[in-house]
Amino acid sequence: MSFSSLGLSEQLVRATSDQGYDTPSPIQLQAIPAVLSGKDVMAAAQTGTGKTAGFTLPLLQRLSEKPRAGKGPRALILTPTRELAAQVHDSVNLYSRYVPTKAAVVFGGVKINPQMMKLRKGLDVLVATPGRLMDLYQQNAVRFNEVEILVLDEADRMLDMGFIRDIRKILALLPAKRQNLLFSATFSNEIRGLAEGLLDNPVQVEVAARNTSAETIKQSVYPVDQSQKTALLSKLVRDNSWDQVLVFTRTKHGANRLTQKLERDGITAAAIHGNKSQGARTRALADFKAGEVRVLVATDIAARGLDIKQLPQVVNFELPNVPEDYVHRIGRTGRAGEKGHALSLVSADEGKLLAGIERLIKKQLPRKEIEGFEPKNNLPLKPKAKADPSKARSRRPQGGNGKSFGPKPAGRSGGRGRQGQGEGQGRGGRPAQRHSA
Ligand code: AMP
Repeated sequence: MSFSSLGLSEQLVRATSDQGYDTPSPIQLQAIPAVLSGKDVMAAAQTGTGKTAGFTLPLLQRLSEKPRAGKGPRALILTPTRELAAQVHDSVNLYSRYVPTKAAVVFGGVKINPQMMKLRKGLDVLVATPGRLMDLYQQNAVRFNEVEILVLDEADRMLDMGFIRDIRKILALLPAKRQNLLFSATFSNEIRGLAEGLLDNPVQVEVAARNTSAETIKQSVYPVDQSQKTALLSKLVRDNSWDQVLVFTRTKHGANRLTQKLERDGITAAAIHGNKSQGARTRALADFKAGEVRVLVATDIAARGLDIKQLPQVVNFELPNVPEDYVHRIGRTGRAGEKGHALSLVSADEGKLLAGIERLIKKQLPRKEIEGFEPKNNLPLKPKAKADPSKARSRRPQGGNGKSFGPKPAGRSGGRGRQGQGEGQGRGGRPAQRHSA
């Protein structure tokens, strides 16, 4: 299968060849014809599946079929975080090289005036985070009367981050006749509710999760005491000569402290999280990509949407509070068929979190103790013979990776346990510094 056989124009196919893509990814195989047909689409797809091109390419084709009448935007792409917005915008620019559509991106945390100027000049595709988009609308800087296509990207994250009210307000302002595309990694009741109100007889698109069963990702657990984690991480970075490792912490505070400790230990490191200015985050990511910084320390929400090609190594310095985040985290490695390794430094107090993750991914992760770092506190870490299903948490009642489109599960499974992180521009929830590294 080639991109041209999916019905994409020669200009768009050329743009994909420029990127070095020879074959469409599974999500692209399904999503591109569906979007080109003009129907609404509901897609279960995570970062790393090629979903961005999956909606961007056909969207550009539809827009380039006729010229813009007014100032636009004609396509609106909403994303949960600034990073993801910036990346989607970059992708739109790459793929629209040979078509006449114009794109812009708006997000919070930076000056609003330059964004107003951009909007005034006219554009076809607007990539936006919901909060800033509403601010711009309230200041009469943007109108929605020409919107033909709406994309909600990473809709689950948008809800988790408290954007539902902004999203509903925006939806109410859009022309009734339009094409709607909803992309989400997971399908909670809340997402299904949103989808029901939004989508008209949607084409459902689903691909195998880039989850832990991805054979390209080797996963292991290193039992270690909390107090020894930094030293162990330094050792691992050195012994394995890792040049590019993404390390996850649970909190912003923890990310800062770990970064400082690594730097003191002579390992170049930078932190990326919601308390950093946009400039600082962009710089940290650029330094990391350029190989000037060996370790990038990130919190879950800040890491969302980071597109780093061929990242060989991901480390969970602390396990996430929400098991699904583990899957998102390790999905940062082993991309596009590359081999990747995800390892987790797990202390005794994280035994329950580990058990929750292993239940979700339906496998036991191999344990590996490192000489000199054997934990003093013995952990409930050895794989249990059999988990007690009655004690399983039911945050994703449908089980598995939560991506099924099957019948609606009973019980609520919204974004609990996440509000507190308060990153990006979510409008609810104060930072909850429950654990610090
Ligand atoms: P996404 O899931 O949209 O974040 O994309 C993940 C990565 O896959 C990005 O770095 C894309 O540039 C890359 N990518 C997207 N489509 C393809 C393709 N058909 N072949 C190879 N790489 C791709």
